[in-house]
Amino acid sequence: MTPELKEQMRSDISLFAEKIRAFEAGEVDKKAYKGFSGGFGSYAQRNGGNMLRLRMAGGRLTKERLAFLADSIETYSIDRLKLTTCQTIQFHNLNADATIDLMEKALEVGIVTRGGGGDFPRNTMASPLSGIGQEEYFDVLPWAEGAADYLLTLVRDIHMPRKLKVAFSSGPDNITHATFRDLGFVARRDGTFDVYCAGGLGPNPRLGVKVAEKISPADIIACIDAMISVFTQFGNYENRAKARTRYLQDTLGADGLKAEFSKALSSALQTSPKLDVHPEPVTKTSEETISGPRILPQKQPGLYTVSYHPAGGNLPADKPRQLYDTIRDMPQTECRISPDETLYIINLTASEAEKVLAVTSDSAVTPFQHSVSCIGASICQQGVRDSQALLASMLEAVEEAGLPDNALPTVHISGCPSSCGTQQIGTLGFQGGVKKVDGAVQPAYTLLLNGNELQGSEAFGETIGTILQASIPEFIVELGRTAAASGLDFSAWLEKHEDDFRSLASKYLV
Ligand code: SF4
Repeated sequence: MTPELKEQMRSDISLFAEKIRAFEAGEVDKKAYKGFSGGFGSYAQRNGGNMLRLRMAGGRLTKERLAFLADSIETYSIDRLKLTTCQTIQFHNLNADATIDLMEKALEVGIVTRGGGGDFPRNTMASPLSGIGQEEYFDVLPWAEGAADYLLTLVRDIHMPRKLKVAFSSGPDNITHATFRDLGFVARRDGTFDVYCAGGLGPNPRLGVKVAEKISPADIIACIDAMISVFTQFGNYENRAKARTRYLQDTLGADGLKAEFSKALSSALQTSPKLDVHPEPVTKTSEETISGPRILPQKQPGLYTVSYHPAGGNLPADKPRQLYDTIRDMPQTECRISPDETLYIINLTASEAEKVLAVTSDSAVTPFQHSVSCIGASICQQGVRDSQALLASMLEAVEEAGLPDNALPTVHISGCPSSCGTQQIGTLGFQGGVKKVDGAVQPAYTLLLNGNELQGSEAFGETIGTILQASIPEFIVELGRTAAASGLDFSAWLEKHEDDFRSLASKYLV
């Protein structure tokens, strides 16, 4: 970010300050405030207080940013933090003064909250193990960061029909969902990108359309300009419910979309700047070795990543300080936020990894404990169900039942159809809603089965039916017991016994 842009962003904060104070004084209604505050990365919470979303391209949480988190938590007595599926961190329960102060202080460490919500380019995503993953085709992070910097230059002036989510994937695990984002750059073995667009979760989810192949990384900005040109030209400015890029597949058709993107790209290639960036080499070496369930060997021999998944993506308020104090003097070590709400601590020698394991011993271990959930309706104004409460009740029931580690999969839960918990791509997904039973409206969730994010096998979960919220812990425990009784792990059991799954689920459907 240039110093000029940073200064502009800083001076704009006074506009936000005026608005949040007017909102607190009751001079602005909730809807009008949401429309404004989202553009600054903040929303008013359902029962008071404010959320501030800290965007970090590629989920890159450097030591400097980690220190910012730790200091902020202590200075403002922040009691709730949330890792999100868009690789950001949310501070919750802030008063107006803290929200304004933190917005400004975050800028100093390269954390921009502007455009964190609203109809703007959102946090640019990248595979969290970029540069270190053994399976990656190449390190996409420098291009994701370059793209993010470019997108920030557009935030103040651009007027798009809706938000634009841009993602980079460095390998087939596709954990950033680059093949089904508004705009996705999918790394190829040959060092170029295939480009997908007009995909996305939420209501009426769609896989993306491949609109370009073998794009040189230098031409990323041309692709972004082409996408914005198509979106602003053909997007729906009249009806917000039909305004996301995925509806371009309906209005233009896949072939029409490809043709329009191609036309816009030819023109952008003549005018858009080239992106000239390079990966940062990892120079650290070690010959020590370590292994364990939360240890991932990196492509750099002798270096390791530790994975840390706090339950429900709720990062304990004391964790940033503990982590910072632990890694402060470790060369090239930093953290990465994964879209599945896991935090990776990277570039560790074996003895450094031991220390990080010790301060993250509260991590999830089993696949089920790694379940993903949005913040839910106790905080989110748009929410219908408290997804975090559902997850907590399921974790407790599974713990009490003493099920084997692999008896259940990772589940994905959202408190409404907006998909912040990525329910459509989980082996099992739950989407919050309501169900009328005997004339009374009851809290309920739609159950989804067999979603898949892997590149080449992408699928959105099939809707199985609706289960009352109160029955879900019992359903999950019975499911785990049944799978465990077969002697197989959950995925092997499901593959062989899908009919049994359906008949078990049907007992709980309403
Ligand atoms: S999925 Fe719905 S309830 Fe959950 S955070 Fe998103 S908008 Fe809120």
